[in-house]
Amino acid sequence: AVLVARRASARARWRRAVALLREFEEGCATPPARLRQVVDAMVVEMHAGLASDGGSKLKMLLTFVDALPTGNEEGIYYAIDLGGTNFRALRVEVGAGSVVTSREVELPIPEELTKGTIEELFNFVAVALKDFVEREDGKDEQKALGFTFSFPVRQTSVSSGSLIRWTKGFSIENAVGKDVAQCLNESLAGSGLNVRVTALVNDTVGTLALGHYHDEDTVAAVIIGAGTNACYIERSDAIIKCQGLLTNSGGMVVNMEWGNFWSSHLPRTPYDISLDDETQNRNDQVALSVEYLLQYLYPWLGFEKMISGIYLGEIARLVLHRMALESDVFGDAADNLSTPFTLSTPLLAAIREDDSPDLSEVRRILQEHLKIPDTPLKTRRLVVKVCDIVTRRAARLAAAGIVGILKKLGRDGSGVASSGRMRGQPRRTVVAIEGGLYQGYPVFREYLDEALVEIMGEEVARTVALRVTEDGSGVGAALLAAVHSSNRQQEGS
Ligand code: BGC
Ligand code: MG
Repeated sequence: AVLVARRASARARWRRAVALLREFEEGCATPPARLRQVVDAMVVEMHAGLASDGGSKLKMLLTFVDALPTGNEEGIYYAIDLGGTNFRALRVEVGAGSVVTSREVELPIPEELTKGTIEELFNFVAVALKDFVEREDGKDEQKALGFTFSFPVRQTSVSSGSLIRWTKGFSIENAVGKDVAQCLNESLAGSGLNVRVTALVNDTVGTLALGHYHDEDTVAAVIIGAGTNACYIERSDAIIKCQGLLTNSGGMVVNMEWGNFWSSHLPRTPYDISLDDETQNRNDQVALSVEYLLQYLYPWLGFEKMISGIYLGEIARLVLHRMALESDVFGDAADNLSTPFTLSTPLLAAIREDDSPDLSEVRRILQEHLKIPDTPLKTRRLVVKVCDIVTRRAARLAAAGIVGILKKLGRDGSGVASSGRMRGQPRRTVVAIEGGLYQGYPVFREYLDEALVEIMGEEVARTVALRVTEDGSGVGAALLAAVHSSNRQQEGS
């Protein structure tokens, strides 16, 4: 009788786990109709963000980049890429339509420098760059520098702009509101280096520049990595909030900062909601450690939280933890699932159905990284399913974001602009794309591509190419330094 009762309760617990899975899956559902609502919401917010500052959660930041590299650039340029865990310096040689990264250094940013003062961080950058430049080109070299700073910046020119807020774990208080290019120039001067920032750019903008260099049909760029964001080329007259201020070429690159996008059409689950509610309504750091940490690491609740690498593994962990508590499928190991960020996004990517018939790789990950001793196959399948749901939602929402841009540009096949084209000549559109999730996670890419087709239809989707660029935030920034240093010389002469 004891045995029968035990079996019955085991079955009930399993049913609870499966019910939680179903609930989560429904909450994350992204049928094409819903994705189209997200597309439309994105377009509405884009208009609002272009109409006035603060008009939308989409900041739609001006970049003052009104000219993109064409292939005619020549010379040697430096670039700095700052925006994640590492700092890079590059020397790029451009000429005859080709770019060669002649040399590059990469240094991890010491954790304490991400929380100190801006002077400390930029002095570290300046010293590293000085070493590098002197080794490459000697002491008195004067070269243009492209500075990729992958945080939201309110630009005042192509080479200046103030930090709006930190993201991705940085929290250097005294930098907010300051002109980061000027701060860096001061550190460079202080170190005795004869190099100044000629282009201050977001990583998306560098990616667009590099994409455009290789293919002139490139009109937008997307990053899906630790963070996520997009930029695109907008007509000057559509940027209502700065009528009159702009520009020679009739267009300007706009940095959307789409990580901050929010819409009620986004498929939000209790796991997303609890993050929001608890961070907004209460202030108990201890009880809310996970939520607090997430909020702290990335304060923007919205699109980015559902899409980018900082979050995906963590969302899956929250789901598994709840299953562990309510259904007992992980036995005594429930506690081990309570630690934030133990399921990183690379692990999430490795938890796949196709590894082997008994999911032995999944078993290994659960054992080694989450300290969950041997699990039955059906539990491993459950884990795979949870991870897949998280990944799929992320990829499909990113696709909706991309179509949002295409729609704003009249290139999604739905609007007047495209039907006005001559029949039989669909306009080709290229979107440059970079970031670990898209590049290093094939399933993510498949889901994204699939959703593009579902939203736009096969025929239109065929006119849109997502093209992976190689190091937009390094090489692209150097190219923009090239474009904008020669512009300046022309203006001066
Ligand atoms: C930043 C963006 C950046 C993106 C990708 C986000 O956290 O706010 O400026 O483009 O990450 O690196
Ligand atoms: Mg980067």
